[in-house]
Amino acid sequence: MNTVYIQLGSNIGERESFITKSMHKVEGDIGKIITASSIFETTAWGNENQNNFLNSVIEIKTPFDAFTILQKSQEIENNLGRKRSDKWGERTIDIDILFYNNKIINTKELTIPHPLIQKRKFVLVPLSEIAPNYKHPILKKNISTLLSECKDTQKVLDYEI
Ligand code: AMP
Repeated sequence: MNTVYIQLGSNIGERESFITKSMHKVEGDIGKIITASSIFETTAWGNENQNNFLNSVIEIKTPFDAFTILQKSQEIENNLGRKRSDKWGERTIDIDILFYNNKIINTKELTIPHPLIQKRKFVLVPLSEIAPNYKHPILKKNISTLLSECKDTQKVLDYEI
């Protein structure tokens, strides 16, 4: 079994329900959820004129390789009604693969570790809740350290359910 960290994000409609539904679909189609972070709320990154995002990070155990996970996550995004209109556009659900074991993958479709982990507080804050000691396989620093060194000024707030 492979250990994979996945980020879920939503900023349109019933955001909380999209996060929950995507977790159920991940569990049904990709693998068992071992841990889920709390849900956090952040302002949209890369485009200020959008609704706030809700984000959560999950750890899963899966028999699938990283490319199969990408394909299955895109099916889940499509099933939950995501429109691929613009790069930083609004989305019912966005699924990013953050880490796949300690693997490093650099292809046109897939970059693992996800290249923006260390730059985004909305990734590092939930990740540090569930995997503070996980060591980034390229940067060779753990998540707590990456969070303490991160220059992102965005506010990442606990979302009250
Ligand atoms: P986005 O619109 O931000 O969801 O980006 C989706 C595109 O990023 C897809 O076409 C993927 O092929 C590509 N991609 C590259 N690396 C990753 C990754 N680690 N997780 C998810 N998508 C990725």
